Amino acid sequence: MDKKLLTPGPLTTSYSTKEAMLHDWGSRDKEFINLNHSIRKSLVKLIDGEDNYQCVPMQGSGTFAVESMISSLTPKNSEILILINGAYGHRMKKICNYLNRNSIDYTVEEDKIHDLKKIENIIDTNKNLTHILAVYCETTSGILNPIKDIADLAVKKNLSLLIDAMSAFGALPLSSKKIKFDALAASSNKCLEGVPGVGFVLVENSVIKNAQGNCHSLSLDLYDQWHSMELNKQWRFTPPTHVLAAFHQALKEHEREGGIEGRYKRYSNNCKIICEGMKDIGFKQLLPDELQAPIIITFMQPSNFDFDKFYDALSQKNFLIYPGKLTVAETFRIGCIGNLNHKDMNDTVFAIKEVLTELQMNIKYI
Ligand SMILES: *Cc1c(COP(=O)(O)O)cnc(C)c1O
Repeated sequence: MDKKLLTPGPLTTSYSTKEAMLHDWGSRDKEFINLNHSIRKSLVKLIDGEDNYQCVPMQGSGTFAVESMISSLTPKNSEILILINGAYGHRMKKICNYLNRNSIDYTVEEDKIHDLKKIENIIDTNKNLTHILAVYCETTSGILNPIKDIADLAVKKNLSLLIDAMSAFGALPLSSKKIKFDALAASSNKCLEGVPGVGFVLVENSVIKNAQGNCHSLSLDLYDQWHSMELNKQWRFTPPTHVLAAFHQALKEHEREGGIEGRYKRYSNNCKIICEGMKDIGFKQLLPDELQAPIIITFMQPSNFDFDKFYDALSQKNFLIYPGKLTVAETFRIGCIGNLNHKDMNDTVFAIKEVLTELQMNIKYI
């Protein structure tokens, strides 16, 4: 029995998704070409983008897709505003530095969202800005950023918005009919419950068509990847065939569950069980409910808490949680995404109670 992954990814996947990898595909064969086409189509459909958006898959982990998006969709003379409230915002800043893109950032604490008025102020005083980079769910804390408000502001100020939607995509709503953005990046192995190895960028038609020559890198060039896939329906370089086959199956299961709405419902229920169970035990949650996305939950470490011992004991009971990533406080995280249901969540809470008793750990905060 595999351990349950209560993490932000890679995640627990269904048996049928794993089983889909038990074949070998010719990457230039019709069957694989159809499978690839179907994945791209399904992903565009998830943002209601059938007429206006293109899906460009990219080999690698999610960061490869984010780096490909930024490097390919921002011209070299861009002026970029990065909204940071966690590690993934900082990572986009780092990518911009690697790429020598001009950027400024507006950073707030990891348990806070950005002040919309202040964003507007920054835009008004930096007249040359061309792009905004934002994270939808900042997985560092699990905070839900107000992506619609940010998108509306970008429209008002005539700026391009690029979204890191990695940990939200497939579970939180993101219709391109309601939220305007130039592009978003996400991956196979978070809320879509595929296996890791491929990311994708959903990009507005005219934006990708005008993206030739921006990217410094051949392998990360989103325009080139898109252009040649449009020409001959094939990947430029070896595609992760098995990962894509699993992704295809995972997307079918996503649809069967009721799409984004269905998944949101299950994850919200998972989240509720963990939050209430942990509260009963005496743990303190970092975020107030209205900022908590049903993706991953951050808990404050009690005083004299030995996280490593706690982690190892839970792992022996087949539950893997995640260390904290906050700079402001000692924390740990429990994910509620992946192929896990209410029973798994109740089992997790039960196992945590057992572990605390076995280790004779008392939950106390000073
Ligand atoms: C997981 C994640 C990424 C990508 O991380 P990888 O380890 O490269 O897959 C990027 N942004 C956010 C918000 C994430 O949650």
